[in-house]
Amino acid sequence: MRHDANLTADRPTFVTHLECSMTGERYEADQLHGLSRVGRPLLVRYDLEGAKAALPRDELARRPADLWKYRELLPVRATRNIVSLGEIATPIIPLDKLAAEAGAKHLWVKDEGRLPTGSFKARGLVMAIAMAKELGVKTIAMPTNGNAGAAAAAYASRVGIESVIFCPADTPEVNVREIAAQGARVYRVNGYIDDCGKLVGQGAKERGWFDLSTLKEPYRIEGKKTMGLELAEQLDWELPDVIFYPTGGGTGLIGMWKAFAEMEALGWIGSKRPRMIAVQAEGCAPMVRAFEAGERHATRWQDAHTIAMGIRVPQAVGDFLILDAVRESGGVAMAVSDDAIAQAVEDAARKDGLLLCPEGGATLAGWRKALAEGLVSADEKVVLFNCATGLKYPLADQSKTLDKDGAIDFAAL
Ligand SMILES: *Cc1c(COP(=O)(O)O)cnc(C)c1O
Repeated sequence: MRHDANLTADRPTFVTHLECSMTGERYEADQLHGLSRVGRPLLVRYDLEGAKAALPRDELARRPADLWKYRELLPVRATRNIVSLGEIATPIIPLDKLAAEAGAKHLWVKDEGRLPTGSFKARGLVMAIAMAKELGVKTIAMPTNGNAGAAAAAYASRVGIESVIFCPADTPEVNVREIAAQGARVYRVNGYIDDCGKLVGQGAKERGWFDLSTLKEPYRIEGKKTMGLELAEQLDWELPDVIFYPTGGGTGLIGMWKAFAEMEALGWIGSKRPRMIAVQAEGCAPMVRAFEAGERHATRWQDAHTIAMGIRVPQAVGDFLILDAVRESGGVAMAVSDDAIAQAVEDAARKDGLLLCPEGGATLAGWRKALAEGLVSADEKVVLFNCATGLKYPLADQSKTLDKDGAIDFAAL
């Protein structure tokens, strides 16, 4: 078996402390943390001068291509606490036919569906679980629309941490079964993901579970930030002009934005940033509403509904971090219809052979809308994020049957 030194070599982390994303208040590293005192996400900070000296950019090319290659910029201290199911560097796939149809040149998909458990939730949860192990957690709990719970269950089981998972009652069967199969206790709840989050909070108080909800612990962002590091490295340290990100809790968007700042401090990239486009579904678009109203915080979206379950998040604790990043980047928050999402999924699969998940479809629908509205031009370099494999979602049954014993008109097939 090929040896992956990223998992076994002792390399230092340059983590120094944590900081409240709202007030800047300082918190110690190497301790269990949830939200800050004012109830907002904590961000992990590093000695970037030290990391710069220890990790020249070119060294990365000599390390195996997985997310643990960025160890110096990740929070895990002890090598023995690293957990892995093979977090590969995900490929960037051009959608050449769809681009040509629209008269555009560079339309790329970063296909995160190839990660363990079939979604990019693996990036965040591999880090959160490694840190939970490092800090002595016995049981984790989390609310999920499906993919996060699956990743949490898999990594937790792998390191011997118990997991309790709550999902909305209408979470697709395959996700619920996958979570259970990977060793978690999973419950369907008659509510939305934030209702599930309240149950996690109550259980955490009563039973001492560690709350792994999106942005309520600091390390999922650090895992998700590797999307930004990896993207820059894959594109030879030249970030694209525009990124379309399917936005639920926003961990990935916030994480990439953080990665860009850290890479600039390290001297790995310049000051050019992509415009960040937060894509939501018309049936659940709290960030779009807040963006358009010029607000820094988003109010809860009532009666949320969309086929893109991963972005059905009525309220996000990191709302201001999403909106700040979008605005600073010169991007926008935009909503697309479920019909446009379904059409995008169908087109990418039929024409370019890439089966997107509905959330990935939302980014393609978003790009089409942005192109039509002149928010993006045809010669700009665009990266869409496909965050899960399309195989985890129900597909239309288009099969036809044949009777092997009858006469078959092969010309009609
Ligand atoms: C969780 C999820 C999202 C949203 O990601 P955030 O970073 O939490 O906004 C998008 N797509 C899929 C498939 C997901 O599972």
